[in-house]
Amino acid sequence: MANTPITVAYGDGIGPEIMDATLRILREAGARIAPEVIEIGEKVYLRGNTSGIEPSSWESLRRTRVFLKAPITTPQGGGFKSLNVTTRKTLGLYANVRPCVSYSPYVETKHPNMDVVIVRENEEDLYAGIEYRLSPQVTETLKLITRPGTEKIVRYAFEYARRHGRKKVTCFTKDNIMKMTDGLFHKVFDQIGVDYPDIEKEHWIVDIGAAKMADTPEIFDVIVMPNLYGDILSDVAAQIAGSVGLAGSANIGTGAAMFEAIHGSAPRRAGQNLANPSGLLLGAVLMLVHINQPDIAGRVHNAWLRTIEDGVHTYDIFDDRVSKHKVGTKEFAAAVVARLGQLPEKLKAVHYVEAPPEAPQAAVTADARTVEIRVDGIDVYVAWPSADPNTLAAKVAPASGDGLKLTMISNRGVKVWPEGFAETFCTDSFRCRFTAEGGTTVAKTIALLARVDALGIEIVKTEGLRTFDGQPGYSLAQGQ
Ligand code: NAD
Repeated sequence: MANTPITVAYGDGIGPEIMDATLRILREAGARIAPEVIEIGEKVYLRGNTSGIEPSSWESLRRTRVFLKAPITTPQGGGFKSLNVTTRKTLGLYANVRPCVSYSPYVETKHPNMDVVIVRENEEDLYAGIEYRLSPQVTETLKLITRPGTEKIVRYAFEYARRHGRKKVTCFTKDNIMKMTDGLFHKVFDQIGVDYPDIEKEHWIVDIGAAKMADTPEIFDVIVMPNLYGDILSDVAAQIAGSVGLAGSANIGTGAAMFEAIHGSAPRRAGQNLANPSGLLLGAVLMLVHINQPDIAGRVHNAWLRTIEDGVHTYDIFDDRVSKHKVGTKEFAAAVVARLGQLPEKLKAVHYVEAPPEAPQAAVTADARTVEIRVDGIDVYVAWPSADPNTLAAKVAPASGDGLKLTMISNRGVKVWPEGFAETFCTDSFRCRFTAEGGTTVAKTIALLARVDALGIEIVKTEGLRTFDGQPGYSLAQGQ
């Protein structure tokens, strides 16, 4: 079988040492890979390339579509873009997968039986980076949750569970508050879950789910969630497993994938043969599974588990009570190589299987139906420095016409007119809702905007109010 080309970056700080160790172990284990080396990170940034990666490196990534990446150092200050974000966005890596496993008693943890995989959506949610300043006092960011994006991540989580013999997939959202965005995520989870009758499914509101995960992680198996919750909770999960220095992660896209350790470049430990290569090695194990070399992945992972339980530990996890040999990066790699072919005796051995011949490629179900859309009106966001909704209502109401009527004014999402509470605190940014009974047209809402402007009111932005097949595509204000 031909070797699979992969792109490798040695990174900064401890990166080159842990990459050397990792590649040595992979080679000795018989990994069928052909590494192409690219340079990324600090040196590239400091040459004046603000993205930290040369155009020629993209050629390698586009060719191999598999990236094993050591941590890099992002120089402090001015204008350097995060290479991780760039890579994720450019290659469309929509899923972040992070197994968080405890290795008790060899690595200290309060949760000896933890074995959770966090599957985080990686492209949408609050990370779309669409932000606005609406007024001197008010800023906002848009939270985007799409049906295709959610279908991809949820299907990925179920496929991952099935391939790895996992029993349950849990979904975390906050759909009691964000009924439309997180509500869509939850709904898609329920819909796609039907295709996986062999897997148990459950949904938790993210706050109590997070509390439960931090308290009793052993009741969870695979957890799938939108980007922001996943960002926070994947760090919590790695930390409470006791293994921040040991965890690897995968960033998966439809046509490409990136594998790495979750820790950084630890510059203070660089060049001293001290660093623990385990995080990158476990990232490489995820890569071997991805490129369909489950035999080698299992061989490497089991040898590593055996090394850990034999008490061969680098300084960061060394503990007199359980450790037997304090070793450096190179010696640790040699210890893993010496155990290739062995299984752990106390820790649970792993077993990886081949990808099914036709693994569903996170297919997105196109909604072929025509949706009937009705325009109901428009929300007009205005800057109104006096912070008094009643004077604003008196001033803006005359813009009504063509069937469109001022029906509500809100501030920070709370209805303040009509019949607002004097106690409600108001900022200098208001939303004026104009609606037409039985529907209206976009042209009429534009004419309305001209009338609002003619009244001398500062329009900041608008949102269309539309109904989809009879379902309102907008929320009511609190108190409306
Ligand atoms: P860090 O993860 O590099 O280090 C945190 C602590 O953990 C340090 O005490 C370090 O010595 C120790 N540590 C980390 N990895 C270790 C290992 N493999 N073996 C032994 N000890 C280890 O985090 P930081 O100090 O906040 O960041 C340092 C640099 O890394 C920064 O420039 C940051 O931007 C970068 N960083 C890069 C990535 C990445 O490339 N994916 C991720 C996080 C941070």
